[in-house]
Amino acid sequence: MSGEPSGLIADRACGSCVSCCSFFTIAELEKPAGTLCSHSMPGGGCDIYAERPNACRVFFCAWRCWDQVPDDWRPDRTGFILGGRLAAGSFLSVTTDPDLPESWRAEPYCSQLKAWARQGDRIGSQVVVFSRQRVIVLQADTELDFGDFSPDEVLIRDEAGRFHKVPRNRVK
Ligand code: SF4
Ligand code: SF4
Repeated sequence: MSGEPSGLIADRACGSCVSCCSFFTIAELEKPAGTLCSHSMPGGGCDIYAERPNACRVFFCAWRCWDQVPDDWRPDRTGFILGGRLAAGSFLSVTTDPDLPESWRAEPYCSQLKAWARQGDRIGSQVVVFSRQRVIVLQADTELDFGDFSPDEVLIRDEAGRFHKVPRNRVK
């Protein structure tokens, strides 16, 4: 899913990776998570590139735009997509390939994700794993496993920094 805005790492290209066109739900196209989009072309690319949905226009994985992600962590190689970044008030998401829900636990990935989680604890950020419907927050040496989420549930963080799984309609 690409445009070419500023802020992307110069020598990284999507190439044949189509992970974000597969792993994510695209509501505008009624495309479910874990199904390759019907507009994805063999070898990579999009056959409606000029008219692609906004969700596709705005998304770039962290491998494309955060220079702390190692070069060889392109999502079609790791089995998960990193999104966002580790920064105060923000979080780094790890969305696994639905066919490889434990991909993030393989090494060297797991050790690096937990190192980022420890770094996040110091600066007010988190690493959050989305593995099928399951959500796990990594913190220092702890895994907060919130189990499976229904479409009507979301994860929130209170003012004290604690996470809670709550009904979506309770969030303002
Ligand atoms: S997951 Fe990242 S590298 Fe792969 S196609 Fe999407 S933006 Fe490109
Ligand atoms: S519309 Fe294009 S960019 Fe968006 S998910 Fe489908 S193939 Fe990917």
